[in-house]
Amino acid sequence: MIPVNTPLLNGNEKRYLNECIDSGWISCDGPFVDRFEREFAAFNGRHYGIAVANGSAALDVAVAALSIQPGDEVIMPTFTIISCAQAVVRSGGIPILVDSDPLDWNMTVEAIEEKITQRTKAIMAVHMYGLPSDMEKICALAEKYHLKVIEDAAQAIGQTCNGKRCGSFGQASVFSFYPNKHITTGEGGMVLTDDEQLAERCRSFRNLCFQKKQRFVHEELGWNYRMTNLQAAVGCAQLEQLNDHLDRKRAIGGLYQRILTDLPVQRPLPETRLAKNLYWAYGLVLGKEYPGNAAQVMARLADHGIGSRPFFWPIHQQPVFKKMGLFDQLHLPVAENLAQRGFYLPSGLALTDHEIEQTGEVLRKILTEP
Ligand SMILES: *Cc1c(COP(=O)(O)O)cnc(C)c1O
Repeated sequence: MIPVNTPLLNGNEKRYLNECIDSGWISCDGPFVDRFEREFAAFNGRHYGIAVANGSAALDVAVAALSIQPGDEVIMPTFTIISCAQAVVRSGGIPILVDSDPLDWNMTVEAIEEKITQRTKAIMAVHMYGLPSDMEKICALAEKYHLKVIEDAAQAIGQTCNGKRCGSFGQASVFSFYPNKHITTGEGGMVLTDDEQLAERCRSFRNLCFQKKQRFVHEELGWNYRMTNLQAAVGCAQLEQLNDHLDRKRAIGGLYQRILTDLPVQRPLPETRLAKNLYWAYGLVLGKEYPGNAAQVMARLADHGIGSRPFFWPIHQQPVFKKMGLFDQLHLPVAENLAQRGFYLPSGLALTDHEIEQTGEVLRKILTEP
């Protein structure tokens, strides 16, 4: 079996976890949380880090801290994880969905401006699968119309956009440390910002909006989204190895690119004018000439013991939002095609070159033999 993801935990993880257990600091009140926030913020060139329970929680906290109100519109890609849209919907805001570029799978910047109205409050940009969204253009547009920017850099830890770190753009950047991300804490996430007041609001929303003076008297509703010292200990150890992880991701993607030539699939772009691909996950889109869909190819890969994952299902086609009366009649053809014909291959950091070659051979057979 070749799993779709296996994390790499071969640094100081055990040592730091033992320190937590030996010292008794296992809740959020431990030294690794501060250290992880500080070091991860510094890596991304940001002033403040607010560690939370997972990446979806980071989105909830960022949206709440930016005061998205009922009726506020937030422009975002339709081709993304549900967490982006649900954070806005739960705040009473309205996601305004934009289609993707067919080649780099990121939200097309040209489409954003057409969607700006009097009610637009923010733009949520998401970096997809290893290539960055054009953050400079998005931030310039936001400035022109006085909008906030939330950058979802969960898949782009260590990536850059025109030489500047992904995760350093806009009012707030959010990250996930789920085991398939470039560094993991098991479950975990973070919000980064340069705005001290916003950081303070994020800390408050993370921690049930407890107050400094009267702890159990609440002015707003938050969540218990705190990260534990145990998670942060793993995070600190992972961060020490981040540059190696990024090198390995590039190598995995590069090897797939060399192996998977002359097949009826669209491979990831090796680079755009903004950055070289970091191959967070090695995704493929079946070509028009190929008769089957992604689900069929993934089922055949599974028959050979090879794990894979479908691409995201577009937000505008989510049954939960249809039931709420949202996105009726909306048609965003690029994302719809990506959902039908896109999937990704095993891309975890512990994947061996031999496993990549095996995966390539099996996929070639499936795609070329009837
Ligand atoms: C993984 C991911 C998240 C959510 O992170 P969780 O930690 O799984 O909640 C959010 N946005 C993007 C783009 C992701 O890839």
